[in-house]
Amino acid sequence: MTDKLGRPAAAPQTNAQSLERETAAESLVGTVTAVQANYYWVKLSAASDWAGAVLLCTRRARLKKTGQQVMVGDRVVIEEPDWQGQRGAIAAILPRSTTLDRPPVANASQILLVFALADPQPEPLQMSWFLVKAEAAGLRVAVALNKCDLVDPSVQTEWSDRLQTWGYAPLWLSVYQGQIPTDLNLTLQQQTTIVCGPSGVGKSSLINALIPDLSLRVSAVSGKLGRGRHTTRHVELFELPRGGLLADTPGFNQPDIDCGPEALENYFPEIRQRLKQQRCRFSDCLHRDEPGCAVRGSWERYKHYLQLVEDLLCQQAAQLSDTDDTGVKYKVTTAGQRQAEPRLAAKKYRRISRRSRNQALQDLCQEIVDTGDNLEILEGLSLDDLT
Ligand code: GDP
Ligand code: ZN
Repeated sequence: MTDKLGRPAAAPQTNAQSLERETAAESLVGTVTAVQANYYWVKLSAASDWAGAVLLCTRRARLKKTGQQVMVGDRVVIEEPDWQGQRGAIAAILPRSTTLDRPPVANASQILLVFALADPQPEPLQMSWFLVKAEAAGLRVAVALNKCDLVDPSVQTEWSDRLQTWGYAPLWLSVYQGQIPTDLNLTLQQQTTIVCGPSGVGKSSLINALIPDLSLRVSAVSGKLGRGRHTTRHVELFELPRGGLLADTPGFNQPDIDCGPEALENYFPEIRQRLKQQRCRFSDCLHRDEPGCAVRGSWERYKHYLQLVEDLLCQQAAQLSDTDDTGVKYKVTTAGQRQAEPRLAAKKYRRISRRSRNQALQDLCQEIVDTGDNLEILEGLSLDDLT
């Protein structure tokens, strides 16, 4: 189901919430905060007697048989808790309000895009890539500009005006100077927020500032696998002191956009605004040189739109000619350049790299050492799940 902008519609919250209340009355409910191989770290909800406890869980075989994937952010029902061993099994997944594929996060409500005013210098085209990607995820988008301490106030004013015309009202930060506006805390409170943006803008610094005991938590949780969770490629949710979750998602920081060129108009507030006032002559207008276009104009990011639409058309053409067996595929880079790269075989024929295989085996050995005689934890484990 999609809404009028073509975004995935959110499932009715009320049903999910009431089902959760009913379920919570008789069982243990928690949130999946991290996933690794076949294991899920589940933090139990405030409603239970064991509020806040974290259990390392497996997934019941029947969930696996019915193909139900457990994602970070999922609200789940736990069976057979072993309080001493801090283990459990996930018996059911409660209905999701939202689902993101890349990064795989359930029930996220918003994306916080972080940029810097300097070091690295804001790059408007790159910012548009991130903004479009965030808009395309169908979640609420919040924008923050960090490192205010590095620029003259006039630069901040200039960017404020500029972003206003793009349709965004950013929050201004200097993590360095401890300048984190109350509005940001309010925005994040009780929400599941995906934090992303270019590298070096201060995302990790911000997360650490918002969750001062994070390093403690990271080392405590990582004990099971004997290495820092931050070094893994998995999404992880961190709990904010005043309620709410932050997803630290390395995977979202590559601004590759996965939508058709015709959907792009939904992801620019400026275009949405224009189309609200006047429709284009043709319903399938791509807003390039079509007669009677209501979008074409001298607004600042129109050139970004044109570049993105070109890139997406190239991408689409390359996908359509996929059958030509050239062994080449095209990727659009951050700078908006089309780049050829060798095509990999479909996943099922792809060899598992030696590195992934070794890592998977290391994890498995570590788990066996950690779990001792608890063979239940190895239920349904296969090398496929680990790599
Ligand atoms: P990430 O790659 O987005 O996670 O960025 P980091 O949090 O690793 O920060 C990158 C660099 O920016 C580090 O050297 C930080 O110390 C620095 N940094 C972070 N926030 C601020 C800030 O508010 N002002 C200044 N001047 N530097 C900052
Ligand atoms: Zn048009």
